[in-house]
Amino acid sequence: MEILLAKSAGFCFGVKRATQMAFDAADTYQSLQSLGPLIHSPQMVKKLEDRGIRVCTQVDEADGDAIVVRSHGVTAEELEALNACGKAIVDATCPFVTKAQKYAADLSHAGYLLVLVGEAHHPEVQGIVSYAGGEVVVVASPAEAEELPKNRKIGIIAQTTQSIDNFRTIVSVCLEKTRHLKIYNTICDATSVRQEDAVSIAAQVDLMLVVGGYNSANTTRLAGLCREQGTLTYHVETAGEIDPLWFEGVGRVGLTAGASTPQFLIDEIMATLARF
Ligand code: SF4
Repeated sequence: MEILLAKSAGFCFGVKRATQMAFDAADTYQSLQSLGPLIHSPQMVKKLEDRGIRVCTQVDEADGDAIVVRSHGVTAEELEALNACGKAIVDATCPFVTKAQKYAADLSHAGYLLVLVGEAHHPEVQGIVSYAGGEVVVVASPAEAEELPKNRKIGIIAQTTQSIDNFRTIVSVCLEKTRHLKIYNTICDATSVRQEDAVSIAAQVDLMLVVGGYNSANTTRLAGLCREQGTLTYHVETAGEIDPLWFEGVGRVGLTAGASTPQFLIDEIMATLARF
């Protein structure tokens, strides 16, 4: 059986950096907590816990020496509370997210109506919104953008994981609304690169395996895209879930993993496939 492994499978730059910063901090501080789970991978969260890195959900629950801020950042209010609580802060906010927060502040300061293309409930979006001092509208779709007011100075940015097609369409809608439009493309290509690789491999194989947390939206989306190609696709978290019967009559299998899937889980799956 031939195995095609996606080059982009696994950690993106920001998640890899955040995880490494947390492990490094575990060597420095006696007691360490992350503000929310550092990563959407229950197996990696367990590994972090084994190194003494516990999860707290709010700043006032933190009872350790230091707190790790995860890759999608925190709100300005949370950052203020963190600074006030007197604990050491290990800020693992992805630099791409920091840039989006800065553009939000700059545009707002300059009097633009800030339009943020993204999912309103997502912590990264809530963080970015909090840095804009003025009026902000979060829009998820072109239909929502149609509701924006006319003849305003509009500044538009995106959640880092948005699709470029959705961003482009919403920018076009905004062009119809105003003659004064400022655009910062804050999309990071980690998501699109993984999606393009997954679709390309799914088109070449009999069966596709997508590895990553069931709570990871980007992993679930990868599995969905592979299925849309008409390829038999299984989303698994660990090698233990793989059923050898899936591979009967399969000549080629494709393998990819979400941006929050650690390398050790991919390695375990590769080793399991190699035994079939
Ligand atoms: S997806 Fe992009 S912006 Fe988000 S953490 Fe990864 S590298 Fe950073």
